[in-house]
Amino acid sequence: MASSRPPVSLRPEIAALPSYVPGARPARRQVYKLSSNELPFPPLPAVGAALADAGVDVNRYPDMYATDLTSALGDLLGVPAEKIVVGNGSVAVLAHVLEAVCRPGDEVLMAWRSFEAYPIAVPVAGATPVMVPVDEDGRHDLDAMARAITPRTRVVLVCSPNNPTGPALSQSELRAFLQIVPRDVLVVLDEAYLEFVRRPDPTDGVALLPEHKNLVVLRTFSKAYGLAGLRVGYAVARRRLAAGFRATSTPFGVNGLAQAAALAALTCQDLVAERVGQVVAERDRVRDALTGQGWSIPDPQGNFVWLALGRRAAGFAAAARDRGVLVRPFEDEGVRVSIGEPEANDLFLEIAGEWRRDHAAVAGD
Ligand SMILES: *Cc1c(COP(=O)(O)O)cnc(C)c1O
Repeated sequence: MASSRPPVSLRPEIAALPSYVPGARPARRQVYKLSSNELPFPPLPAVGAALADAGVDVNRYPDMYATDLTSALGDLLGVPAEKIVVGNGSVAVLAHVLEAVCRPGDEVLMAWRSFEAYPIAVPVAGATPVMVPVDEDGRHDLDAMARAITPRTRVVLVCSPNNPTGPALSQSELRAFLQIVPRDVLVVLDEAYLEFVRRPDPTDGVALLPEHKNLVVLRTFSKAYGLAGLRVGYAVARRRLAAGFRATSTPFGVNGLAQAAALAALTCQDLVAERVGQVVAERDRVRDALTGQGWSIPDPQGNFVWLALGRRAAGFAAAARDRGVLVRPFEDEGVRVSIGEPEANDLFLEIAGEWRRDHAAVAGD
């Protein structure tokens, strides 16, 4: 009997998943890692101290609900702590959100290209991704997304600023979109790069929560707070939904070191803002220099720029790697380059300028 049965099989949609490609990691020290949208600064001093303190307790389980952290976030955002759900990075929080609401056969709408974690998280939750192309400026086409909503649509993912293309939505665009999405469709607004936005009328998902009960806002400590290695992100939503997301969350999903570090980082708003300001200044410098070289790039509102290189993406990434700069190629689409330390950005600009001179005639961009 036992031997007559086939071996354990994976769910077909799991076997077919695209794989998440982590940004390349440097093999030697002189390489600049501009491949994962990390902050180029060392951890905030208060974070180092908090980690040393918290280290003595690692034989204990952490506070399962990260009580201190959620209450500090509640104070910062002006919302009750019950509306906040923390998780092991906002990617994990997104998975818990999808698990809590998606039924088999449900559709999850997303712009594409957008964050590569989305088409992995959706089938894992048993739902079907439906992609709506971004426009030629790399912006969400909210009209097309609204038209793509069907009775099977359970969730719409909105990423602003959009990783990897860069543009951000305005609050009025977002509000108009929310007004036409049916109230039983959850809108997940991923604001991972919110702190870097400098466009007018920036989104503030949390401010829209009282008007739109079907909205969930995702934010993270991985980008502006420089804590990518510790894995802390969170969702903000109405209480009933937040309780559901908490129910699907991995127990003790945010470890004690991460909780302590995030809490410490929240006390450093001035330093965080100063560092973000430096990155934004560098981003704008890089954008201007690229434009000056003849590149046309979508409006960068995160800590990265997008070069729509099409089938030359892999070639550009290889050329950059040979010069000591790791970037993130998306095959046949483009290359995402994170804003790093000024020397790294200078070297990237040099590589981009040389590429432009060598390829402009045939690139057609
Ligand atoms: C980096 C990023 C995140 C953050 O993920 P974490 O799991 O919190 O590190 C979320 N969404 C987008 C679009 C991102 O680029």
